[in-house]
Amino acid sequence: MAYEQRRFGGSNNSRPQGGRSFGGNRGGSRGGNRGPAKKYIHPSKFINKAVTKADEVIYIPKNKFADFPFGNQLHHNISKKGYELPSAIQDQTIPLILEGKDVIGLANTGTGKTAAFLLPIIERQSGVSLRPSVLIIAPTRELAQQIDEQFREFAQGLDLYSALIVGGVNVDRQIRDLKRRPHFIIGTPGRLKDLMNRRLIRLESITTLVLDEADRMLDMGFLPDIRTIVNDMPADRQTLFFSATITPDIQGLVHAFLRDPVTVSVRTSETNEHVEQTVIEARDKNHKIELLTEMLRGDDYDKVLIFGETKFGVQRLSDHLDNSGIPSVAIHGNKNQSQRQRALKQFKDQRVRVMVATDVAARGLDIPNVSHVINFDTPQTYEDYIHRIGRTGRGGASGKAHTFIDIQR
Ligand code: AMP
Repeated sequence: MAYEQRRFGGSNNSRPQGGRSFGGNRGGSRGGNRGPAKKYIHPSKFINKAVTKADEVIYIPKNKFADFPFGNQLHHNISKKGYELPSAIQDQTIPLILEGKDVIGLANTGTGKTAAFLLPIIERQSGVSLRPSVLIIAPTRELAQQIDEQFREFAQGLDLYSALIVGGVNVDRQIRDLKRRPHFIIGTPGRLKDLMNRRLIRLESITTLVLDEADRMLDMGFLPDIRTIVNDMPADRQTLFFSATITPDIQGLVHAFLRDPVTVSVRTSETNEHVEQTVIEARDKNHKIELLTEMLRGDDYDKVLIFGETKFGVQRLSDHLDNSGIPSVAIHGNKNQSQRQRALKQFKDQRVRVMVATDVAARGLDIPNVSHVINFDTPQTYEDYIHRIGRTGRGGASGKAHTFIDIQR
């Protein structure tokens, strides 16, 4: 290899891998170090220390899916998805949610948190006649859409319906969906508030509220919208609150919105042990591009997610790769929703093996089997780094993360 790689620490690729089962849950805290923008991060910070096999804690669920008192059709839909055993968050929260408790779930994306709330909520809908009865709020359109997709799979044959209420797409279809009186409304704060103001969404009948990735919603400035929405809801409801971090702001929200909540924490450790992390030194931007194109011509780069800092930079890099004979798609804030969705689908379906993205556009996306994450531009915060590399090495698979840094003299 002509490019210079420096490897810190090691990977642990020896974990058993299997179909769609969740193996491990490691305790530990996140080094949430959200500092001022453009903070210098020492390269050693990017790299997780080697993890030996002896350190591993394989999570052994107390329950099997069959133990949960779900109806036959729901059990059938779970098996059809290929889920074998509940993940840690599912194992611990499903019984609480079925009991009607308010729950704080401290869990990152990739832990199976979506099914952890969807399954018991779906089960609790049987016999509910007032609609809509469930409101799920997520920070990004893509995340809301993924929740909706999972909902549709789990709700098959159950006569339960949803409306997906997100910005950036035509509102007429959403209004039509709302008029059909869905059981579930799944959406992002801005559009939800907009349609509430237009009296097209009424929340008096909501019995269950889910706030997903609450920390991200705060980061993105959605707090006022969320307050407006939640204040319009009956106080007598079940509230489920998911977040990867607990900051004082988050605690404030919990205090305001939840009643006597039970906390379940399954956060994975700071960096994902399934991800082999390396830094690659480069002289300047042209050198980075040279090294990157060379890498991407390698055989094992099957599904590569590249992070860039700005919308323009991301688009330029994607164009450059296209012109170098490496087809790619780009997602960033300058693309409209249908362009983003098309790009994401092409990447997910492996019709194109390279996607270039900004942090915000990639947030919360569940893209299975990413083989490599490449930090073309250095992340601005350590937390962003964790988020980025968390796109690979998911669900027990192994992955690689490369981070470009300036040559250290
Ligand atoms: P999430 O954290 O909800 O974004 O889920 C991450 C991925 O794990 C999704 O692709 C889910 O379909 C998958 N998943 C969730 N629960 C399970 C399970 N019990 N067994 C296998 N895969 C799962």
